Amino acid sequence: MQYFENAMTESQNHSTTKLLACRVIVTLQSAGFTAYWAGGCVRDKLLGRVPRDYDVATDARPDDVMALFPRSAAVGKAFGVVVVRLEDTPFEVATFREDHDYRDGRHPDSVAFCDAETDAARRDFTVNALFYDPATSRVLDYVEGQADIEGKVIRCVGDASERFREDHLRMLRAVRFASTLDFSITQETADAIRHDAQLIQKISPERIRDELVRTFCEAAKAGDALLLLDELGLLKLVLPEVSAMKGQEQPPEYHPEGDVFTHTVIMLNLLPSPCDPILALAVLLHDVGKPPTAFLDEQRWRFNAHASVGGDMAERILRRLRLPSATVDAVSACVRGHMRFLDVPRMKRSTLRRLVGRPTFDTELELHRLDCEGSHRDLGHHAFLVGLCKEFASEPVLPDPWVTGRDLMEMGVDEGPEIGKWKKTAYDAQLEEQFPDKEALLDWLRGRILREATRQPPDHH
Ligand code: ATP
Ligand code: MG
Repeated sequence: MQYFENAMTESQNHSTTKLLACRVIVTLQSAGFTAYWAGGCVRDKLLGRVPRDYDVATDARPDDVMALFPRSAAVGKAFGVVVVRLEDTPFEVATFREDHDYRDGRHPDSVAFCDAETDAARRDFTVNALFYDPATSRVLDYVEGQADIEGKVIRCVGDASERFREDHLRMLRAVRFASTLDFSITQETADAIRHDAQLIQKISPERIRDELVRTFCEAAKAGDALLLLDELGLLKLVLPEVSAMKGQEQPPEYHPEGDVFTHTVIMLNLLPSPCDPILALAVLLHDVGKPPTAFLDEQRWRFNAHASVGGDMAERILRRLRLPSATVDAVSACVRGHMRFLDVPRMKRSTLRRLVGRPTFDTELELHRLDCEGSHRDLGHHAFLVGLCKEFASEPVLPDPWVTGRDLMEMGVDEGPEIGKWKKTAYDAQLEEQFPDKEALLDWLRGRILREATRQPPDHH
């Protein structure tokens, strides 16, 4: 899926890709066509960032492109897009085009091939509408995009309202680019989003998901991205349950920082960039169960069962946004379990081992750390668990059980539920490290089983 494809990080990979991207241009230009790098890669290059991918724009028609590159496939021939492969690296080569009549607010009804300047005009933001010719090192800027990169602003190409009515997803793209590039959105562009925000509801959940996940995972400050979504009126439409956290008060002794929304913003701002989507979503949603469970008990806010209510809500929200099941399950497990970390000092060793052995434990521990950092800043439980993990590092946290059903049957335990009960007793004792080895554990079990079997049944007379 798109958002799991990580940006190219290794510089080695990147310089190879860049060379191949030059070769695409040279091949087209040598055949007499105009060809440039276009869009995001030019923006990233000017910003000194590593581009995710190099897109090419050209006046060659799809058939010309396919004739020049043997390993190519038309992915959207009607839109003039061909994917060419050089040494297994794919490049999108798109014929300069203008888009016509977005009747559905999502896709153009038809396209017409044109020149570079007209192609720039169909692009979403000025910073995304630049071309670059690697053969001459020349930037082609028809929309004053370079000035906006310098000024660090996201501005629509042309009339902002019109552009958002053509394709409503651009409203979320504006937030993503502002948040990931650490730019601001110009007044006109922001006003247009505020005015037409409700149109976002016409966009498919999958496309909303991709933008939101990338925004929270790639933003320089994911908390500021959340504030921006809210200021523009988009948050209550795409994540109403998160919007409901605004103004939800909580006890100041645990949360001196303020309401539930403020707490979440602070935590999101502490995330690394890029961030694993499971952690980002777990932070975003960890307290989503607070507003619906809130009640005032003698002047004090209580949120009984907010973690399990929140876990169910997280599951519903993420399914609605079509996140993959593994992500839904992991995030909702983190949300459901986040209050257990308060009980850590009172946990038995077997319970601690089961906690540390959970498949989502690393994410849960980080969520807990951020939860503390974003409120009272007491990291005692976190430090204790980090120490425990070190202690457990040389052995499996959840070792194979010593005692099997067969051992128990040999000791005379009847088949059925009794076996399960004794297995659990034996495994608990093993995890508690009460016995040095299996033999010692079996001796103890034999005694207990015998005692239980000879115990007088209760007198019913
Ligand atoms: P990144 O790949 O880092 O997310 P990008 O700018 O390359 O950023 P893409 O979604 O890959 O973004 O799109 C490539 C280019 O196509 C953009 O830079 C922009 O010029 C144009 N573009 C993409 N989506 C739209 C859209 N919805 N409306 C108008 N132009 C768009
Ligand atoms: Mg791109």
